[in-house]
Amino acid sequence: MSDFDYDLFVIGAGSGGVRAARIAASHGAKVGIAEEYRVGGTCVIRGCVPKKLLVYGAHFAEDLEDCARFGWEVEGKSFDWKKLRDNVADEVDRLEGLYRNTLKGNEVTIHDCRASLGGGHEVKLSDGSSVTAKNILIAVGARPHVPEIEGCQQHAIVSNDVFKLDKLPKRIAISGGGYIANEFAGIFNEFGSTVTIVNRGDRILRGYDHQVRDRLLQISMTKGIRFIFNSTFDKVEKKEDGSLHLTMNGCEDMEVDALLFATGREPNVEGLGLEEAGVKTGDRGAICVDEYSKTSVDHIYAVGDVTDRVQLTPVAIREGHAVADNLFDGQDRTVDYDNIPSAVFSHPPIAAVGLTESEAREKLGGAYKTYTSDFRAMKNVLAGRNERSLYKIVTDANTDVIVGIHMIGPEVPEVMQAAAVAVKAGLTKQAFDDTIALHPTMAEELVLMR
Ligand code: NDP
Repeated sequence: MSDFDYDLFVIGAGSGGVRAARIAASHGAKVGIAEEYRVGGTCVIRGCVPKKLLVYGAHFAEDLEDCARFGWEVEGKSFDWKKLRDNVADEVDRLEGLYRNTLKGNEVTIHDCRASLGGGHEVKLSDGSSVTAKNILIAVGARPHVPEIEGCQQHAIVSNDVFKLDKLPKRIAISGGGYIANEFAGIFNEFGSTVTIVNRGDRILRGYDHQVRDRLLQISMTKGIRFIFNSTFDKVEKKEDGSLHLTMNGCEDMEVDALLFATGREPNVEGLGLEEAGVKTGDRGAICVDEYSKTSVDHIYAVGDVTDRVQLTPVAIREGHAVADNLFDGQDRTVDYDNIPSAVFSHPPIAAVGLTESEAREKLGGAYKTYTSDFRAMKNVLAGRNERSLYKIVTDANTDVIVGIHMIGPEVPEVMQAAAVAVKAGLTKQAFDDTIALHPTMAEELVLMR
């Protein structure tokens, strides 16, 4: 008999926490998990999944335009935001149910309350009870960061709020130039809102290849999204008619119906009792961990966004899985952070893996080569949509090994998942050249670049 209530207690039932709990239980551990809001976490409840459904919903606007050249006449088309919003919410409910069932099916005990560290092996629960666990895993994620600006906390929204909007704003300003800003700019623009992205710097999507970023900027502007660079917000005021007056720094003031902040996410560490428990934190409060996701306290682990390593769902899942395998299956697993593919679900989307051209220049001291294919997808040609895709391969000039792939165009995240395997496996450009094209596809451009 164990001296503890649980072998593993997980705080936070998001992607990383649920995976760790489920795998640990499947290895025979007695597992408890606490969640203060909804099982599924950011990705399932208010992030990747509902966002992707909105992206699909938004893209119909273009399909309905494009279909005319393919012979389809669709009369009386209209868009009902509430219908999409509610259907997405229903799907999220369904997924939450599946997550709960998976946990229950693996005999994980779910505590629907907030949890904090009680010192030693104790976890305090907001229902007044407490439990003990041999090992504790913190997987509480992150939340949107909204800078301190007068009127912002009261009047601005964050991505979580978009899924609950009663109506679409006619005019929306979005602060930030990263993932969320570009994804939601595309969504609102397709739904007919007038969208202005305001960025503090002079570039969007820092970290992505410059050619791909420039292409998104150019296409987004052609679609009607306005970009304002090197500007920030001084003050946000609500007017009598419900609209917002934005006092700006660096550009003219604006009147909008909504202001969305997409300025990064910060670890959810408040009130967890970290300091009292001796768990060390670093930049922006992120929990410091070693390569096994172990914190400064021997039996306490942390995975996912709360550690601020790579803020991506599949990374949190890998980290959670590894912790469970190491603790309860005698394995010795760490997570390999090299060549993680990523995508921005903008209109059109971006996908990337490995080094950008400028990173290759820096890392390989100039011994790199690039290959690009700049083309208009067949479907866009017939549709009369003047929107070009760009695929780019970066290689190590000495070894011919592909060190990066960067793409923008229809469906590129789908293409990238397979291409990322090749980069992860260290394949050469010659291996791509040797592969016969699959025709006619957009992805064939990957093996036709010379
Ligand atoms: P990002 O880090 O992608 O972008 C943040 C943006 O806000 C940058 O343009 C940044 O400018 C700007 N910014 C940061 N702080 C301030 C500030 N104080 N004032 C003004 N501007 C500021 O964050 P997001 O919020 O878009 O997304 C959060 C994270 O969630 C992402 O990093 C990503 O890991 C994850 N995510 C992933 C998605 C996907 O995989 N498709 C989708 C959505 C989110 P600068 O460049 O100058 O720093």
